[in-house]
Amino acid sequence: MNQIAPSSCAPAPTIRQRGQHEVFCGLTSIIWLHRKMQDTFFLVVGSRTCAHLLQSAAGVMIFAEPRFATAIMDERDLAGMADMHDELDRVVARLLARRPDIRMLVLVGSCPSEVIKFDLAKAAERLNRQHAPERRVVSYSGSGIETTFTQGEDNFLAALVAEAPGAGAAAAEGARPAALVVAGCLSDIVEDQFARYLAGFGLADVHFLPARHSRATPVIGPQTRYILAQPYLGATAAALESRGARRINALFPLGEEGTTDWLQAIATAFDVPADRVEAVTGAPRRRAHAALAHHRPLLAGKRVFFFPDSQLEPSLARFLAREAGAEILEVGSPYLHRDHSAGELALLPPGVSVSEGQDVDLQIERCRSANPDLIVCGMGLANPFEAEGRLTKWSIEFAFAPIQGYEQAGDLAELFARPLRRQGLLTDLAE
Ligand code: SF4
Repeated sequence: MNQIAPSSCAPAPTIRQRGQHEVFCGLTSIIWLHRKMQDTFFLVVGSRTCAHLLQSAAGVMIFAEPRFATAIMDERDLAGMADMHDELDRVVARLLARRPDIRMLVLVGSCPSEVIKFDLAKAAERLNRQHAPERRVVSYSGSGIETTFTQGEDNFLAALVAEAPGAGAAAAEGARPAALVVAGCLSDIVEDQFARYLAGFGLADVHFLPARHSRATPVIGPQTRYILAQPYLGATAAALESRGARRINALFPLGEEGTTDWLQAIATAFDVPADRVEAVTGAPRRRAHAALAHHRPLLAGKRVFFFPDSQLEPSLARFLAREAGAEILEVGSPYLHRDHSAGELALLPPGVSVSEGQDVDLQIERCRSANPDLIVCGMGLANPFEAEGRLTKWSIEFAFAPIQGYEQAGDLAELFARPLRRQGLLTDLAE
């Protein structure tokens, strides 16, 4: 396996911005979380705006039995004329009576529920007393006051860890803490690939968080090692560590280099012999190289500007620069977890601007004057940039698409290459 050497010069100092920002709120993460967790229902306690956001973020998906909904708070609730807890109990009782397939109910807080200080943690506790053990009820905040869209997942996973069985209680029932927890929602296809590699390493006791089924939440204790599969999980990491779990430090598994580093870090932590690692990862690594070679001619030398959106930006920029030869102008991220992203930042090419937070007007000006070939940004900024004749890529697509792992390295490059290729075709047609 390749050892990864950080670049000799560090990136330029971080630009910290505390102005207006344009990102989706944490409710958005329900879209990928509800697909992952087959027996879980997400009930947003919010306003019509929240319901509209979910509906439009979910696109035109039509389900016979959807697994998310919004309990809409109306004027009476907001004015304090109705007892919100009674109302919520009624909604939940109706929902669970109609949907016996639901094993876990997740109450999701929003801006309105937060503004009126509706205590969803207390509501979840009370509902748990009524419906456990058949159904579990947990809560977290997806409010836009506090969260960007990937932080919704972070809050949810932290809530799952908080109510996961502790090592002490589990030992009394004969259960052992997990050896390895992979934290971060991955599409099933990526999870299956990683599970195969780790089984090939000889690791038997591996748990993915979130699991596909709500009952599969692992026991966490001081014997547990965990590795992050997503970079936006600061609260989840803190929750795992509060149970005694220890983090395996690695790059995030994006691109061939990131995936190799991530798997090698696990292998090192569990003393997996090098020849075994090579036997498991050699062929997929070569396939990733071949897939990337196909996209490199188009991406090499392209100047790319990342606006802050998902916290995936430093890893995406590292991949694009080192594996596709692109030139990175600025890497924005809503938040930077210094420890978790240290490896990613160290591998950015010298002189790249890194910005944390957002002052959107100033950043738009910086972007215009840098005049990049491709702008990776949220939907709200993409349309005005396109109207100026600039090429954009919606950053939310990187959160929805399966992009982690060797077999997806080519697809990840393709996401960046597609707008550039489309522009090339349009230019050819115009000539
Ligand atoms: Fe809007 Fe807040 Fe509801 Fe998100 S949680 S849709 S930001 S009102």
